[in-house]
Amino acid sequence: MIDLLAKFDGLVAERQMVLDAGMRDPVGVVMSEVLSPTEAIIQGRKTILMGTYNYMGMTFDPDVIAAGEAALRDFGAGTTGSRVLNGTYATHKDCEAALCEFYGTKYAMVFSTGYQANLGIVSTLAGRGDYVILDADSHASIYDGCSMGNADVVRFRHNSVEDLEKRLRRLPADAGKLVVLEGVYSMLGDIAPLAEMVRVAKAAGAMVLVDEAHAMGFFGEHGRGVTEAAGLEDQVDFIVGTFSKSVGTVGGFCVSNHPKFEALRLVCRPYVFTAALPPTVMASSAASIRKLMHNADKRAALWAATRGMHEGLRARGFTLGTETAESAIIAVMMPDQVTTVRMWQALLERGVYVNFARPPATPMGTYLLRCSLCAAHTAEQVATILAAFEAAAAEVGLQLS
Ligand code: PMP
Repeated sequence: MIDLLAKFDGLVAERQMVLDAGMRDPVGVVMSEVLSPTEAIIQGRKTILMGTYNYMGMTFDPDVIAAGEAALRDFGAGTTGSRVLNGTYATHKDCEAALCEFYGTKYAMVFSTGYQANLGIVSTLAGRGDYVILDADSHASIYDGCSMGNADVVRFRHNSVEDLEKRLRRLPADAGKLVVLEGVYSMLGDIAPLAEMVRVAKAAGAMVLVDEAHAMGFFGEHGRGVTEAAGLEDQVDFIVGTFSKSVGTVGGFCVSNHPKFEALRLVCRPYVFTAALPPTVMASSAASIRKLMHNADKRAALWAATRGMHEGLRARGFTLGTETAESAIIAVMMPDQVTTVRMWQALLERGVYVNFARPPATPMGTYLLRCSLCAAHTAEQVATILAAFEAAAAEVGLQLS
């Protein structure tokens, strides 16, 4: 027998080395209790969460919880079937209606996760003979959608309008083209120069899809994302998003005004060949989406917390992924894997949880601690986190500038 897992020997050894050195497993954190959107008990200790995507703190919203509880009673625990068979309940249609209200679009399609939304939409739109033109730092779900659809993939340099234009120019004029962009890039927290990119894409006759996973709820006047903030809603053909971030539940979606959009329900494999989300999740998501439309105060609180954290970390000499706070994600750049794990652990021991991020998720093979803010973070929590960063850096001997 040839051991098919042998190809992972290097990874297993690397992980063992970290554990043998007495460090905790950065991918093995268990929250035994979740106290609020910003606090949980981890290994018996109250810990401030600064590595979730609970940007708007909706996970404990009383209306969101009540809607889920009512749906559990009325519709049961699960759907036991695909959306195209027995898995579409009134809750699913209402959640899609909530998305149409939120985005002001004609159509919305809910998937079981954001990953499946990208996988399904990209692979179904762009097939053999078509081109997907995507940013090199695109999320794994976008890359996987490209592989599944068998389209030709053309990558352009991260956030480079010039490179996008150059690559579009080389493609046949009569070929189908889908330009895929993200409003906010999830590793460094930087935003796309969307207006320029959409202009260039449209000039080349391409359709445009924007993944707004990390922008929904707090970019733009109504929280519709970077697309809204940049005034591009009538030019972007498809918006993909997730419920696992600002909405505070789980699920994915695509919204569009394309008149033939509904046809995708018949042919999109990650939509057809999987079970529909439980009614609890649909009802909670719909309640959350409708509340997110009217959340200007929370948006302001999130931006205040994010700016306070970004400025505080910079003032203490940490190297960050962006010059200023561009989104609610702050990437603290690290020199190598061992320092990253040690720093991550030193923070956890001080009651602060952040994300340990490593290749292949990170761009250019970098190691970083990814922090993300929540509208519910208080100024006191921000101060506690900053003090923990300072003390942790001193403990592990991290070079600060
Ligand atoms: N797109 C982007 C840009 C993401 O960062 C993520 C998840 N981090 C997804 C899609 C997938 O979302 P989900 O967690 O709902 O699968």
